[in-house]
Formats: sequence, structure tokens, C-alpha cells
Amino acid sequence: MRLQCEVEVRSRLLPTCGLRGRAKGAHALLSLGRQPDRPPGRGGPSAGHSVYLMVCTARDRAGARYKLKENIEQFFTKFVEEGKATVRLKEPAVDVCLSKANASNLKSFLAAVRLAHRGTDVEALPLSVLVPAKTSEVEKPKTKMIITSRRDYPLTKNFPYSLEHLQASYCKLARVDMRMLCLKKLRKLDLSHNHIKKLPETIGDLVSLQELNLHNNHLETFCVALCNSTLQKSLQFLDLSQNKIKALPVQFCQLQELVHLKLDDNELIRLPFKMGQLSLLRFLSAARNKLPFLPSDFRNLSLEKLDLFGNPFEQPNPLVPSIQLKIPLTLLESAARATVNYRIPYGRHLLPSHLCEDLEVAKTCQCGNACLSCFIQTTVTMNLHYVAHTVVLVDNMGGTEAPIVCYFCSLTCYSQFLDRYLQSNR
Ligand SMILES: [Zn+2]
Repeated sequence: MRLQCEVEVRSRLLPTCGLRGRAKGAHALLSLGRQPDRPPGRGGPSAGHSVYLMVCTARDRAGARYKLKENIEQFFTKFVEEGKATVRLKEPAVDVCLSKANASNLKSFLAAVRLAHRGTDVEALPLSVLVPAKTSEVEKPKTKMIITSRRDYPLTKNFPYSLEHLQASYCKLARVDMRMLCLKKLRKLDLSHNHIKKLPETIGDLVSLQELNLHNNHLETFCVALCNSTLQKSLQFLDLSQNKIKALPVQFCQLQELVHLKLDDNELIRLPFKMGQLSLLRFLSAARNKLPFLPSDFRNLSLEKLDLFGNPFEQPNPLVPSIQLKIPLTLLESAARATVNYRIPYGRHLLPSHLCEDLEVAKTCQCGNACLSCFIQTTVTMNLHYVAHTVVLVDNMGGTEAPIVCYFCSLTCYSQFLDRYLQSNR
């Protein structure tokens, strides 16, 4: 029987100096096994076999061995559910402190230790052969790996399965290495400064991924499959700056956990239509792109910091709207508006999927009503302080204002807006 956990063996004979030694436990492999009490071949009668507890650590792979029969003074198991316990031995006078164990493994291990101590049912114990631990069994699992040159990039060896943080920068990677996608514990993946053109959909299988850095690559898109993946529930930090992305999909806003989003130095001609749905987003930068204006939903954001410097923002002119209004409304438009306004449930089992997609990007008029393909569109000026606490100037002239799109469902709504606009600018 074996148990992997962290172990600290404390002597009760040594004086404790001031602070009670709360030294960190070493990663260890514990095993229970039977061995002769005395090395054979010394003459005299054989002393028989006893059950021993062997503690192997990276510093002592051969392991320290402790006889168990009638040798345990006390068990401390108050925190066994948290994977912690202590076994106090009589001889030598040490406390074997176990921590970071799997709680159920620990419980069955302690039960076996208890039986060995009592000396009852020893035959039934699942005993292992007491052999020195392998290095891989006692080494602390590697959780972090930083590679910053192609020379150091592992070509033949696999990445340690235990990695939580992997950086592979300046490695001239043309694609994401499939071996990385098996690292289920990965929380932070930094592939900045490579030549990656496309992300594999399977990046979405990294269920723990919180931070993804793709700064300075050759990406042209961010695929829809990733927006629909488990990244929705985990991804908090995404850096796509210095790529060649022209647009992000509508589904991008399903990455609901995003807090940090960096889109600087791309070729974005628009931001995602439903940007305002990213309710946790606090840090957004999209400097030096090709944005002519912001989506109307942008005003729903609540940011700490916003950087939109160096975009070719258009001068808003509410008096020159783009009119895409057909009067009377088409039957399709009327039905679609009613579906959204009355929140009539729909889905791909009821409607053709292109209609579902249209409904998902319904625009909202200032009156609160929906419009789909019949509307009047114009841009107005918004002070970016309306959505962000700290705003980086949008140009060298000291401006903090940007044009934002407005939609109107009818001529009535547009003329009401125009009246207000003209009055306030009189
Ligand atoms: Zn309206």
C-alpha cells in the first residue's frame, strides 16, 4: 500500500526553538511493507517479519523505515478531510506529519497503519515491497515552465503533465503544439512572440485555462468554436495584441469571464456587436486599430481602464443618418421584431438557423424596441468616461470622446431624437 503526500518528520527529542517548526513538508512516497526485523545471516534464531512504514523523499529516496507493531503512541486525524494527519511514534520519538494527501487515500492508508500497529489482520493488509522510490515519485510535480528561445524548446520530450503555467515565447512556433493541449491543469498559457496563424479549436479543451497570451503572432481570426468552448467559464485574461485580426465573431461576447482584454495593434474595423455583455470586463485596450466607431452596446460596459488611442474615428453627424427603413415594414421584419419584443421563445428546432442568427443580433432602438434589418442608423458622440474610470486619450489632441452607433426603429423615434439633439446643440 502506498500514499503520495507531503511529509515532515519531526523529532520530539530536539528542543523546539522559539516558533514551533512549521517547516514545509517535502513531497514524499509512503509505503507499508513487510521486512525481516534483523538482517539475516547473523546467526541466532530468525526474528521474523514485521510491518514497516517507509518514508521516501527526494533527499532520501532509499527511505526511512519505522516499525509499526505496538509502536504508535497516538493518531491525530482531526483534519483528515483536508488531507492532513499526524502519526506519533514511540520509538524513535518522532511525529510523522502528513499533508496535501488525497483525503480518501489518506483514510485508507491510516486504517492500514492502525491495523499494523495492533498487529491484527496483518495478513489481510495490502502490503507493498519496500523498494526505494523512483525520482519521479518523490519529486515535486513541476508546475511552471518558461521557454524563451527556440533552442530551449523541447522537441522530443513531453511537457510535464502537471504544468499549470507554460510560456513558450520567441520559439518561432507556426502553430500551437498539440502536446500543450493535453495539459489539463494549465491555467496560464503564454505563446507571445511566435508565428501562429490559427488557433486549434481544441484549445477550448484546456478546462482550467484562465490566461491566454498570444501577443505578437500572425493571427487573422479568433474562431467561433473557441467562443463556444469551456473557455466561456474559465478565461479571464486574453491578449491578442499585435496580430492581424480584422474582426471578432459575435459569439466572442460569450467569453463571459473576461476581465482583461487586449486587442491593440490589429486591423479591427469593428468591435463585437454585443461587447456590452462582457459584464466582468474591467480592462480593455484596442489602441491602433481601424475602428471608425463603437457598437451601440458599448455603453453598457463598466470598465476601470480603457485605451482606444490611434483609431480613425469618424466625426459623428446625426443629421446625416443612414436610412434602411422600408415602410410599411416587411412581414419578416414585423414578425422578427415581435419575437424579440415579446420575448417569444425560439430556437433552431423551430426556425431556420439564419433567422436565429439574425434574431441574436437584433438592434435596440432608443425607445427600447427591437429592429433587425429595417432601421435608421447614425452615430453620436460619447464621452468615454461614461464607461471607464480611467481613459487613455483617443488622439494627440487630448480627446476622450468617440463616436458610437445609435439605431432607431421608426421615423418617429429618429425625429424625437433629432429634436432633442438640435435643442441641446442650439
Ligand atoms: Zn424606436
